[in-house]
Amino acid sequence: MIAILKHGTTPQQTAHLVAWLKHQNLDVHISEGAEVTVLGLIGDTSRVDMELLSSLEIVESVKRVSEPFKQANRKFHPKDTIIQVGDARIGGGYFAMIAGPCSVESEEQIIEVARAVKESGANILRGGAFKPRTSPYAFQGMKDAGIKLLLEAKREVGLPIVTEIMNISTLDLFADVDVIQVGARNMQNFDLLKELGKTNKPILLKRGLANTLQELLMSAEYIMSEGNENVILCERGIRTFETATRNTLDLSAVSVLHELSHLPVVVDPSHATGKARLVPPMACAAAAAGADGIMVEVHNNPSCALCDGAQSLTPPQFDELCHRVRKIQEALQ
Ligand code: PEP
Ligand code: MN
Repeated sequence: MIAILKHGTTPQQTAHLVAWLKHQNLDVHISEGAEVTVLGLIGDTSRVDMELLSSLEIVESVKRVSEPFKQANRKFHPKDTIIQVGDARIGGGYFAMIAGPCSVESEEQIIEVARAVKESGANILRGGAFKPRTSPYAFQGMKDAGIKLLLEAKREVGLPIVTEIMNISTLDLFADVDVIQVGARNMQNFDLLKELGKTNKPILLKRGLANTLQELLMSAEYIMSEGNENVILCERGIRTFETATRNTLDLSAVSVLHELSHLPVVVDPSHATGKARLVPPMACAAAAAGADGIMVEVHNNPSCALCDGAQSLTPPQFDELCHRVRKIQEALQ
C-alpha cells in the first residue's frame, strides 16, 4: 500500500504518522521527493483501514498495490483450482454443465428434468428448495421436502446436486448435497459465509446484484479463510440502468476473475437475462469467454413453473443449447 502525503507536511507530522503505522505491525519505507513524500507500507496491509488513512489531514491519497484477498489470489496460487463434484470436475479445463429447474416443485418434475438434462450432457443437477423471493407472498420453495426430492433425483438419475442455503440453521439438511449454493442476495451474509467455510463442501458463490468483482472475491475469502478452499464463483448478471434484460450479464467478469483468482468461474445466463430465448446465445458466449461452466434453468413445463418460468428452457431447448456449447468448445481447442 502506498500513501502520498500532502505538500507541506512537516517532518514531525510524517514521523507521527509513521509511528502510528509501525504500531500496526507495518514497515514503512519513506521516500521524500521535491514536491511530495511517499510512504510505502510493507507487511500485511489487509487490516489497514484505507478510508481512515485517506481521511487524515496530511494524506493526499492512498493506493493498494496488492489485493486484499490472499487465499483466492492467483498470485499465491498460480495453478487453476479444480473442484471435484461427484464424477464431475470444474476448473482447469473441466467444464461443468449445471442444469435443472429454478425450484423443485414435485417428484415427477425434478426426476423428469433430471433425466432429460443428464441425457443432454448436464453433469450437475440444480434445483432450489429454499427460495429467496422478492415477495413474501410468492412461492418460497418446498424447503426440507425439496431437498429430499433432490436427493431422490440424485439417487435415481445419478447426478450430483447443487441447491441454495439461506440460513445456516438448515445446514444439517445439506449433509448429502454435493454443492451448496450461496445466492446473489446472500453474497455478503458474512456469518453464513464463515460457517460454510467450516464445512468441506464445495460452495457455489453467486455474485451479488450490485457487487464488484473485488467484493465477490472478498466473500470467497471469507469462506476460504475458515479452511474451505472449494469455492466456485458464479457471474449471474448485475443491476444496471438497462431494462431490456433482467440483469446485465458481465461477461468480462470471467476474464477478470480468471486473471485475479485461481478459482473456477461459472456463468448463469438464466438469471442474467431473464428471458429463455437469450439464454442459449449467452451460454455460448460464456463458453467462448472461457467460463469453467454454465448454470441453466430447465423446466419440463415453463409456462406452469412456480418460479422463473420466463427464463426456463424446455428440455429440447436445453439439448440444442448443449450441442451449440459443445461446438464452441471444439472450436476453442
Ligand atoms: C437461483 O440460482 O435460483 C437464484 C435465486 O439465483 P440468484 O441468487 O443469482 O438470483
Ligand atoms: Mn431462478
